[in-house]
Amino acid sequence: MALTDEQLAAAFKQTGALLQGHFLLTSGKHSDRYFQCAKVLQHPEHTTGICERFVEAFRDANVELVVSPAIGGIVVGQETARQLGARFIWAERENDKMTIRRGFDAAPGERTLVVEDVVTTGGSVFETIDAVKALGAEVVGVASVVDRSGGTVDFGAPFSAAMTMQVTAWAPEECPLCEEGVPVVKPGSRKKPA
Ligand SMILES: [Zn+2]
Repeated sequence: MALTDEQLAAAFKQTGALLQGHFLLTSGKHSDRYFQCAKVLQHPEHTTGICERFVEAFRDANVELVVSPAIGGIVVGQETARQLGARFIWAERENDKMTIRRGFDAAPGERTLVVEDVVTTGGSVFETIDAVKALGAEVVGVASVVDRSGGTVDFGAPFSAAMTMQVTAWAPEECPLCEEGVPVVKPGSRKKPA
């Protein structure tokens, strides 16, 4: 059974994938939420339930090949391909360009689903789509665990996200939590920044 919206939200919270607080992001901005998709995907039963949602969305798309951008997309791409009975390969950065390597190939017109963990601007997915098309395969859809664009990205193919999430981030000098004197935390580190 695919996870419902409520079960998915609960899984994000229970696994610490979605944190609430006052966070310093890698961009230097501050946010009241922090999302680390890998935290939920470390539990295979959640990964299975999330990918069942992708399978429901693309059941009738006759997917033959799943391609994911490395590293984030690999876990969900592999499981989605398993459920669809499709083949799975990945794209990875080589000289800053998303490339399909390792002798992986695709047949002309092969029906391909691109699967990612988190879409923010969609950059890695766009590059993966280009790499798939360069092999002559056809992109029939895109699936992502989380869409942080708030539904604004257009991949030129049907796009299904298990969850849509708006990102609120502020420059430190405009941060309301700093204003309130709430200590800021850098996610993923045990130390608080000076
Ligand atoms: Zn702040």
